[in-house]
Amino acid sequence: MEPLDALGRPLRDLRLSVTDRCNFRCPYCMPAELFGERYAFLPRPEILSFEEIERLVRLFVELGVRKLRITGGEPLIRAELPRLIERLARIDGIEDLALTSNGFLLARHAVALADAGLSRVTVSLDALDPEVFKTMSGSPHEPERVLEGIAAAADAGLGPLKINCVVQQGVNEDEVLRLAEHFRGTPHIVRFIEFMDVGTRNRWDLDRVVRAGDIVERIGQRYPLEPLDANYPGEVARRYRYADGQGEVGVIASVTQPFCRGCTRARVTAEGRLVTCLFSDAGVDLKGPLRDGRSDEAVRDIVRGVWSTRSDRYSEERAGVGGPVRSGRRIEMYQVGG
Ligand code: SF4
Repeated sequence: MEPLDALGRPLRDLRLSVTDRCNFRCPYCMPAELFGERYAFLPRPEILSFEEIERLVRLFVELGVRKLRITGGEPLIRAELPRLIERLARIDGIEDLALTSNGFLLARHAVALADAGLSRVTVSLDALDPEVFKTMSGSPHEPERVLEGIAAAADAGLGPLKINCVVQQGVNEDEVLRLAEHFRGTPHIVRFIEFMDVGTRNRWDLDRVVRAGDIVERIGQRYPLEPLDANYPGEVARRYRYADGQGEVGVIASVTQPFCRGCTRARVTAEGRLVTCLFSDAGVDLKGPLRDGRSDEAVRDIVRGVWSTRSDRYSEERAGVGGPVRSGRRIEMYQVGG
């Protein structure tokens, strides 16, 4: 029997982090001043092996998961990732196997990932202006490598791609039109994301949020937009088509238009912690039960138990009080990949 949570939501989506490491230092996720050269990332034995990941995903599928998204940190850093994708793509019941990447290493891996059975890729790209890109990625790199990665993924059949851009007031709001123009007329869909108070290290403030309504207006003044229906219930992005037929654009408005009611997402960190909301605390350990000889049934019952008592609706609560509703320890963005 597939469990429903305390708000009647089924478990349909699993976001699985395969590493806590990244080759970028985006300030809203992994600020360079906190994640320097000496930062102690998880030692290899602490992260789930491919065998453990496959076993866990099979158990989640038995509980209702149909969509699987591979995240990080930066998942392309995990060695031999196509081998893992191949194992996961063979699991009956997975209808959509996707990956979220910063795109920097994508050109090198796109063909192998597609051949392994990956369905599609979402690329995070917060700017096209080289200086703004460096600021938003906390790196010396330029956006060209990411654009090459997007082209390679499309050529490998992993498109149309979704391009995610986190918009911050005073940092990259001028990139909204630039990104919209760059991908207009292509099959790729840019989704502009309201800056969120994920974790405890990104110095979030409501004043730094560019509201989805303002983003839509900003684009619509130049290129008229028409709202589109959701592709499926619980879809996080609000969709718009260009009235002149030049494609689609979206906004993800967790701050101003929360979507917790339709949230069917669970997350598992690289070291095997089950997290029921992006704004949760540390989550529930699954690695111990996987490694201490518990049966599949026992591990599945732990997941079922956690999901059945889930009542998360953080973004709704935040919208209700107009600011962060929980202080103290919260899972960090790089641990769950958003
Ligand atoms: S805030 Fe939590 S419950 Fe709401 S949509 Fe995000 S992950 Fe789901």
